[in-house]
Amino acid sequence: MPLFPTSYNEVLQRLQKIDPLAYRATRNFIDGKVTYLSPYISRGVISTKQVLASVLKRGYTPEKIEKFIQELAWRDYWQQIWIAKGNAIDLDLKQAQHPVTNTDLSSAIINGKTGIEAIDTAITDFYRTGYLHNHVRMYVASLACNIAKSHWKFPAHWMYYHLLDADWASNALSWQWVAGANSNKKYVANQENVNKYCHTDQRGTALTNK
Ligand SMILES: Cc1cc2nc3c(=O)[nH]c(=O)nc-3n(C[C@H](O)[C@H](O)[C@H](O)COP(=O)(O)OP(=O)(O)OC[C@H]3O[C@@H](n4cnc5c(N)ncnc54)[C@H](O)[C@@H]3O)c2cc1C
Repeated sequence: MPLFPTSYNEVLQRLQKIDPLAYRATRNFIDGKVTYLSPYISRGVISTKQVLASVLKRGYTPEKIEKFIQELAWRDYWQQIWIAKGNAIDLDLKQAQHPVTNTDLSSAIINGKTGIEAIDTAITDFYRTGYLHNHVRMYVASLACNIAKSHWKFPAHWMYYHLLDADWASNALSWQWVAGANSNKKYVANQENVNKYCHTDQRGTALTNK
């Protein structure tokens, strides 16, 4: 089956395969049991409400699948922020990103040549599949905003352009969250975390704690 089948029946079958317990245990790993539903949710083929209802119907109780519900809720929460704030989400929402030295995107990221194996493989695959794992989205945003000190908006446009699940609320507000413009603390990726969740064993990269 292709990564993102386009027949509605196959999308519904994907709902039946969600394992919210395995999701809780493994979702942060690059090969974890995530659902790959975001292109369908972001395009309105299915709703978060429908996803939750289908899982509950299979007998899972809300308290056992809290993590899964929380992640679905993030999508709806970002949508509500967009509805409430409108075009203000195009700008730094809570405070100015700092420090910013450029409004570009590093060619190392565009070309998948950051020297961080897991990220470079993910970026190469991204151009083919239109999908990036959530953790890799965070790593890339952290590299762009917190190491290369690029303002979040242009790099966010690059990712948005290539994502099959492109959703401006989730995208812009997550980039701002990583960059500290929509959060009180930046998300700072580090190589140990990449190694753990992407099954690599690299040292001495741009993400290694000095
Ligand atoms: C920098 C950055 C940019 C992002 N850009 C987008 C985007 O353009 N479009 C988009 O749909 N999501 C975006 N996300 C959120 C998240 O990465 C994806 O929704 C998720 O990886 C999609 O894969 P999945 O369907 O396998 O998710 P699963 O982990 O299986 O989650 C199920 C569903 O819950 C929702 N969800 C899960 N995690 C999040 C989250 N952190 N924020 C919002 N919704 C979530 C999605 O609708 C997802 O399909 C972004 C995250 C970051 C850090």
